[in-house]
Amino acid sequence: MNMNLYGHNNQWLMVDCGVTFRAPLDRVDDQNPSAKLFDMVAPDPLFIENRQENLCGIVITHAHEDHIGAVPALWTKFKCPIYTTRFTAEVLRRKLYMTNIAEQVQIIVVESGQTIDVGPFTITWMAITHSLPDAQALFIQTSVGSIFHTADWKIDFNPITDDAFQPEAFQQLAKLKPTAMVCDSTNALREGYSTSEGDCELGLLRTIQKCENRVIVTCFGSNVARLISLARVAAKTGRYMALLGRSLENMYSIARATAYWPDELKIAHRRDIAYLPKHEVLLVATGSQGEARAALGRLAAANHPDCEAESGDTVIFSSITIPGNEKAIDSMVEKLKSNGLNVIQSNDSEFTIHASGHPNQQDLSDMYAWVSPKVAIPVHGEPEHLKANALIARAQGVPEQLLGLNGDLFQIAPKVKLVERAVKVGRIDITEINQSLRAMR
Ligand SMILES: [Zn+2]
Ligand SMILES: [Zn+2]
Repeated sequence: MNMNLYGHNNQWLMVDCGVTFRAPLDRVDDQNPSAKLFDMVAPDPLFIENRQENLCGIVITHAHEDHIGAVPALWTKFKCPIYTTRFTAEVLRRKLYMTNIAEQVQIIVVESGQTIDVGPFTITWMAITHSLPDAQALFIQTSVGSIFHTADWKIDFNPITDDAFQPEAFQQLAKLKPTAMVCDSTNALREGYSTSEGDCELGLLRTIQKCENRVIVTCFGSNVARLISLARVAAKTGRYMALLGRSLENMYSIARATAYWPDELKIAHRRDIAYLPKHEVLLVATGSQGEARAALGRLAAANHPDCEAESGDTVIFSSITIPGNEKAIDSMVEKLKSNGLNVIQSNDSEFTIHASGHPNQQDLSDMYAWVSPKVAIPVHGEPEHLKANALIARAQGVPEQLLGLNGDLFQIAPKVKLVERAVKVGRIDITEINQSLRAMR
């Protein structure tokens, strides 16, 4: 989960406000007593809450939950405008509609390429490729220094949804002599370049071409590019595609509302698809992390209200295993196999069926070489990822690297230094805040 604070002249700018999920031991869902609820956890914002009048704005870089998810629960502690681009704004609006604070939150929609002053910060939005539409990097300038904040990114010359990655935009930054680059470290231990969404589409086509009966693909709901790829594959393989699961339907609806969905790609209704011959069916289902309550879990348990999965059908995991979910996914796979289904996961597939949205070592090397900041500040990863990222920066001639932890202060001007444990940080459970915001609506 992400919450970055940039400070200058006693004014603060927040970049991203996300959540993470934690499986609790004792709470259960009233509607479905056998299923445990996941706790939603956010960064403890006490430091900035105590300086609310000095917080001049919040920027959301993209619509992943670890960057946007805590806004509804925490916004009343900040009460300042939110700056973001079109797709992300639509995702945020739909989250806020479910609460009683929707009318109070001022969302300022920014165009990629635009430069806006927010307090003492001059912010330029820069389109960057990731694994959902409309992701943005930021160039933040003040009178004493500047920061290139990459947010989540990878180099993708065929991202399906957005324009291809443009090296020139980042090469130009070097002329402005950025003081620091704050950079995504998620895949800093992986060699080579990251995989393109376009290559993933080709892999999915080759995989699905070989399937005979129903095909069920599970993937992350927010990956609109993957959904578009699957809709194209469905058209090419003579199948009708339907979506199973609320998060998929929501993202498809947002993609249509923001003109990210190609008009010619049609989606069938899940109730209509049940009557089709098996070889004409492609279902896209939520539940890639083994969640029993999600669509794939219900198909596996033969209790989905609209669709079924039977012996001879194929389930494709177009996703990765998020650490901590191994057990749930393994038991889901076992259940599917024991029901006679074929299961293809990205680690045992002969073709590429998943692409991560984060930079590998070669992506990172290129970016450091183009931007050439004075200081590298690796973020978004465990200590081993941050360290690997810092080593790449050093190898590319970045003179200084600051390796710190949550709550540390990374000073970049007038002198570069790390102040350890400058701010008290922690985690807060926001499950109940979210429930009460919805109840009051
Ligand atoms: Zn992301
Ligand atoms: Zn992220």
